[in-house]
Amino acid sequence: MTPGEMEMVEVFTSEGKGRGLKAVKEFWAGDVIFAEPAYAAVVFDSLTHLVCHTCFKRQEKLHRCGQCKFAHYCDRTCQKDAWLNHKHECSAIKAHGKAPNENIRLAARIMWRIEREGGGLTEGCLVSIDDLQNHVENFGEEEKKELRADVESFLNFWPPQSQQFGMQYISHIFGVINCNGFTLSDQRGLQAVGVGVFPNLCLVNHDCWPNCTVIFNNGKIELRALGKISPGEELTVSYVDFLNVSEERRKQLQKQYYFDCTCEHCQKGIKDDLMLAVKEGENKVVKLCRECLKKQEPVLGDTNIYLLKILSIASEVLSYLQMFEEASGYAKRMVDGYMKIYHPNNAQLGMAVMRAGVTHWHASLIESGHGMICKAYAILLVTHGPTHPITKDLEVMRVQSEMELRMFQQNEFMYYKMREAALKNQKIQVMAEPTNEAPSGLFHTKQ
Ligand SMILES: [Zn+2]
Ligand SMILES: [Zn+2]
Ligand SMILES: [Zn+2]
Repeated sequence: MTPGEMEMVEVFTSEGKGRGLKAVKEFWAGDVIFAEPAYAAVVFDSLTHLVCHTCFKRQEKLHRCGQCKFAHYCDRTCQKDAWLNHKHECSAIKAHGKAPNENIRLAARIMWRIEREGGGLTEGCLVSIDDLQNHVENFGEEEKKELRADVESFLNFWPPQSQQFGMQYISHIFGVINCNGFTLSDQRGLQAVGVGVFPNLCLVNHDCWPNCTVIFNNGKIELRALGKISPGEELTVSYVDFLNVSEERRKQLQKQYYFDCTCEHCQKGIKDDLMLAVKEGENKVVKLCRECLKKQEPVLGDTNIYLLKILSIASEVLSYLQMFEEASGYAKRMVDGYMKIYHPNNAQLGMAVMRAGVTHWHASLIESGHGMICKAYAILLVTHGPTHPITKDLEVMRVQSEMELRMFQQNEFMYYKMREAALKNQKIQVMAEPTNEAPSGLFHTKQ
């Protein structure tokens, strides 16, 4: 860092937030308020052979460290620049047999720097590593367990000839990494490639509608003004993506950073209505459903009711738009989930299976379609009785799909001929229209 750069800012006590940074001069949009190299940084485990360990650029061809065979560099320059930080790591990796995970590697790099310079204030830093917040006291059971595992792995890796630290201090370092580790992206900003600790940046408090932004550029982070900032004004960045309603953002901030956001946007719920708005026309809803399903798939179990509700909307809307193939896939998953939850003769289940059956029929999945229609018919005979109009409709469908299935099994060509005629006559047309229930509550998980 060029000397004096940190003179444009000042540490102060921000009301309700503890320590913060404020501007001591006027800034304008795009001004770099300060640039800061990492105190320590490492490449993610999965990318150690694809990204330079010094400048974090993604390169086609990297040179491997001949000693540990773990570190990779663009060229001799990057390798030479790395040596001060890699020297101890290099021999520790050799002694240990393999490199530990990124968390342990980052903690070790921090500790070797502390061994070299001490844990107090270093040049260009407004705050020392010792003085950074660790939030260990806020850790839940799961986090405490992870912390203990990290400390243990660290002690396995840490060489006996290096300076020894107490358990509490090691925990402090892991706590600092946990809440202050900043994600580094590659040179085009497309991919997260590593994590680093930047003490000055740690002093910049959060606001959902901040006046600064931070980017990683050429080996340093830059704090940049988003607009005019007056002397004395607090500098803020957003720790989370704004593209979530205030309630979701506050939950995320509480969970990850252990504070309750009291920024103006959160308090007034500014723009929440925009983020929940749905444009007229079902295509928007289809898009939302698809995105929602994609996001929830790895998280929610097959029987989670929020997932099932979204599957239901998705299949209904897609059927309404005559996109039957995609609709039938969602309908099948919905029905499979419902069958595990509902009583076997539940009326809602019967109706859902019926709609799914019709969707499958429209998607030319005659075998599974017929199976579902039979299943639904059996349920509706119990719940609605044989004389109910829906049961009667279902009876017609059952007979028709059975005939089609037989024909399909005997002669596929004839089947398609007949099906064409059937589609013209529109015999199977008990299409449920999308419900009018407002779906807005389904697009974000309730508490
Ligand atoms: Zn490099
Ligand atoms: Zn090495
Ligand atoms: Zn906020």
